[in-house]
This record gives sequence, C-alpha cells and structure tokens, in this order.
Amino acid sequence: MLRYYRATTWRINFLMMLSMMPIDLVRNISEVTRRISAAEIAAGREQSSVSLLAVSKTKPPELIRLAHAHGQTAFGENYAQEMVEKAQLLADLPLEWHFIGPIQSNKTAGIATYCDWVHSVDRLKIARRLSEQRPANKNPLNVLIQVNVSREPSKSGVLPEALPDLARRVRALPGISLRGLMAIPAPMGTNENPRQPFKALRELKESLALTTPGFDILSMGMSADLEEAIAEGANIVRIGTDIFGARYN
Ligand SMILES: *Cc1c(COP(=O)(O)O)cnc(C)c1O
Repeated sequence: MLRYYRATTWRINFLMMLSMMPIDLVRNISEVTRRISAAEIAAGREQSSVSLLAVSKTKPPELIRLAHAHGQTAFGENYAQEMVEKAQLLADLPLEWHFIGPIQSNKTAGIATYCDWVHSVDRLKIARRLSEQRPANKNPLNVLIQVNVSREPSKSGVLPEALPDLARRVRALPGISLRGLMAIPAPMGTNENPRQPFKALRELKESLALTTPGFDILSMGMSADLEEAIAEGANIVRIGTDIFGARYN
C-alpha cells in the first residue's frame, strides 16, 4: 500500500504544478546557482567546482523537463520505483540520475540500470548487487558511501569506524567506481558549529583518498546549509526545497 502510494505520488502532484509557476522554478534555479557561486568565492574555491544536484523526489516529471530546459541536467531521487518511472518517461532527455535514498535489496536492479550515481550505499550486500546488476554496456556505476557522521541511532549510513573496511571491499567490485562520500548531518543545536559534521566528512574523505584512486567527491549540503558544506569542500550539493518548493508528503 505504501509502495503503491509512493509510486503514484508524483502523478497526484501534477495538480501541485499549478501552484508552482515556471517563472518561480527558473528564478529558484538562478538563485541557488548564485548562492553556490558566492559560497565558492567566499571559500576561495574555483568557480564551477561545485555541482548542483536538483532533488526532484515527489515532484512531477513535467517540472524536471522544465528544469532541464533551463540548463539543469542532474536530478536526485530517493524512491527506486519513482526514479525508474521518471527515468523511463524522460528517456528522450540526456539526464543524469542520482539515487540518494535508502536502498532495499529488491530494488537494486532498477537503480543499477537507470542511475549514473548512487550516493547512499552503506552495506556491502547492496554494493555487490549493484555491481552484479550494472548492465555490461554501461560505465561502472559511480558510488558514494553514505556515512552516519552524527552517529544517530537507527539512521542510514555506515559509522565512521566501519568505513575503511567497507570502502576497501566496495572498491574491489567490478561494476562500481567508488568516487567518494555522502552524509546527511543531524539537525544542529544552537550552540553547535554547523560546519563540524561537514569537516568530519571531509577528513574521512581525505584519509581514504590516499589509498583510493579517483576518490574525489563529497556530496553534502542541502537547501538550508549549502554554504557551510561548500566551505568544507562539498563538490555536489543536493537541493530540493529551494528549487522545486516545499514537499507536502
Ligand atoms: C530530500 C533530500 C535532499 C534535499 O533536501 P532539501 O532540504 O529539500 O534541499 C537532499 N538529500 C537527501 C538525501 C534528501 O533525501
């Protein structure tokens, strides 16, 4: 029932498009692009060193088509069935699909087939299935390991101390190219330094990069904290709300 609901949510959301005018989407994309650019300058980083992943979960394919018409090519989804349906419907466009949600083992085939990137690998079993199911005529799947940097109980992501061993095993899989790390930090208390979890992820990445060729991607930063993430070295920021508006489900 839940799965059916999820799979059909974006169709229902077609009605929501009426509340988001194309002009808002275009304005939102340029505003987020401006924020990214300002954060790159503030951090003394090269222009265009950060790429924008537009998180289109729960949003209708028509909005993705519109965002693409305004220069956006990379889209992030967190429900496998929804991603597969959208990828099939939008197959006429040269889009790059990123999977960013929790992965059930019975959903790996669609992800391995349609995605270019997966940000949310945190178990060897899932990585093995993605590697086996990656079609032979495609490049190895770009994979990031999700780390539970805030050590939240029962949250997705491998704990930092288990990361080196998982990375070593994932790196050896033929259908996968291990490219870096992803995190979703816990909400911050008012006295905490908002950059701390991003700094922690950067340090983990730097240490693993010493032994892993091509391990250069840090996927961190969302609508509310992309500046802090870029200051700590993010090179993919995942933005939903500030591009497509609020989600109501
Ligand atoms: C939904 C989601 C985002 C986008 O969050 P916003 O706050 O809407 O920008 C980023 N990353 C992941 C993993 C998500 O599930």
